[in-house]
Amino acid sequence: MIDILSLTRDELESIVIGFGWERYRVDQIFGFLYKQRIDSFDEITTLKKEMRNQLKEFFYIYPVEVKVKKVSGDGTIKYIFKLIDNSFIESVLIPMTRGRFTICVSTQVGCRMGCRFCATGRMGFKRNLTASEIVAQVRFILKDNNLKTANVVYMGMGEPLDNYSNTTKSIKILMDEMGLSISKRRITLSTCGIVKGIERLKKDLPYINMALSLHSVDNEKRSLIMPINKAYPVEKVLNSLADFPLPRRKRITFEYVMIKGLNDTHKDAKALVKLSGRFRCKINIIPLNKHDLIGTDFEPSQEETIEEFASYLRKKGVFVTVRQSKGSEINAACGMLATDILKTSNIDVG
Ligand code: SAH
Ligand code: SF4
Repeated sequence: MIDILSLTRDELESIVIGFGWERYRVDQIFGFLYKQRIDSFDEITTLKKEMRNQLKEFFYIYPVEVKVKKVSGDGTIKYIFKLIDNSFIESVLIPMTRGRFTICVSTQVGCRMGCRFCATGRMGFKRNLTASEIVAQVRFILKDNNLKTANVVYMGMGEPLDNYSNTTKSIKILMDEMGLSISKRRITLSTCGIVKGIERLKKDLPYINMALSLHSVDNEKRSLIMPINKAYPVEKVLNSLADFPLPRRKRITFEYVMIKGLNDTHKDAKALVKLSGRFRCKINIIPLNKHDLIGTDFEPSQEETIEEFASYLRKKGVFVTVRQSKGSEINAACGMLATDILKTSNIDVG
């Protein structure tokens, strides 16, 4: 049986043409899968019963099971999904301004990058998600909330570029105009800085939005909190991003988790000013979210330190946003995904 949500329209087309069906049937099926968001092929009313049965023989629609759904006071909704192998992943729906929504998706069960401040990193790596498991998160959340579309950010559990082929395939499926038709401008991929993947992306998916988990421009500090920095030192990552083709009028995002005494000094701010001279960028300051898994290893910078840091950058003409920690009361905020999974289940997380 083929997992139909893992197929691009071209792939589905070649199978359906093999059935001897006409080409337009593919667009029809794609529409039902992603616009109507059907759960069973019986819902494809424009196909005759025999054709629906044929689909049932060849394909299945990935069954998404919600284990937990938590709504936060600010409207953020966190989903814990149970996958068919009994693994758990988390996705988040975040309300934005002007009635828009952002869906934050996971790309792996756990993560092998081991960033010291991140709950998912502390959980370790279990497996890659399939393209279908990534697409299914978006499809399900849109349907559950009766939404036509949303921005999609690859900022949930896992490192998207460590699961390169499934991540890029899922983006292509989300973008398909006969399906969800989410434009590149509305898709953001966040990476800890895997240069090999960034280089491939430039060819495969230019013009999506890029975010780098920067956290420090200083190699020594960055290596201390992000082991990947030893394989790909920060200057190599920045060089690779320097010519990444961005969507028109969009900026590259540098995520900057503020950790007390580590990366929140005046010297760190000055380094960011220098960096901003080189990039059309936005610095997204994220106050460190505390969670049980990091214990007392790291503390968030004080609020006034963050304010001073941000206002210094602004004064120097840097485009800065301070991310409000949406959903932290339900552990849906950055770096907290996985904490509930570890608490509420007895799954083996290696
Ligand atoms: N693996 C990718 C995408 C997922 S992480 C990446 O690292 O970019 C999404 C963002 O949350 C990253 O910027 C990450 O550095 C940040 N993050 C991780 N742990 C955090 C914490 N405890 N508090 C705040 N942000 C955190
Ligand atoms: Fe993985 Fe990103 Fe967490 Fe680092 S911050 S451990 S890359 S999910």
